[in-house]
Amino acid sequence: MNRRVVTFHYTLRDPAGRVLDTSAGADPIVYLEGAGQIIDGLDEQLRALAAGAKSRVQVPAARAYGERDPAQVQQIRRDQLPVDGELKIGDQFQTDRDQHAPIVTVVAIDGDHVTLDANHPLAGVDLTFDVEIVAARPATAPELAHGHAHGADGTGHCQ
Ligand SMILES: [Zn+2]
Repeated sequence: MNRRVVTFHYTLRDPAGRVLDTSAGADPIVYLEGAGQIIDGLDEQLRALAAGAKSRVQVPAARAYGERDPAQVQQIRRDQLPVDGELKIGDQFQTDRDQHAPIVTVVAIDGDHVTLDANHPLAGVDLTFDVEIVAARPATAPELAHGHAHGADGTGHCQ
C-alpha cells in the first residue's frame, strides 16, 4: 500500500466529553502514515479518510496510550526526589534531566513520603477524536526513507 502524508485538524475528548486537546486555532498536524508520528489507533483509522473528510474516530485506550499499570504507581521518600520546594498533588515533573525521561505525577503526599504515578496521563482513557482531513498526498521517497513527513507540501525541513 502506498503511504500518504496527511494533514489534519483534530479535537480530542475524553469519555465525559471534556476537550483534552485541539489543533483548532493552531497549525494542523502533518504526519507520515505508519511511522509512529501519531498514536497507532488513530493512524489506522485515518487511512480510510480522504482529503476533505470529517469524521469522529474512537480509539480505545489499548490502542492509544495503553492501559494503566498499577506497578507504575510507587511511594518514595520525599528527599529522593530531584525537586526542591513545595510539592502538591497533581504536580508533574521528569524523573531525570534527560528530556526523554518519563513524566511522573504526584498523586499523594503522606508526611515525608510521596506517591508518584508514572503512567501516561491518558493511560486507561478511551479517546474520541473529531477530525478533519485538510490534505493527503503520496509520501515522497525522502520521507519514506526518513520515516517522517517533511511538511504539508513535502519540501519542509526535517524535524
Ligand atoms: Zn527527514
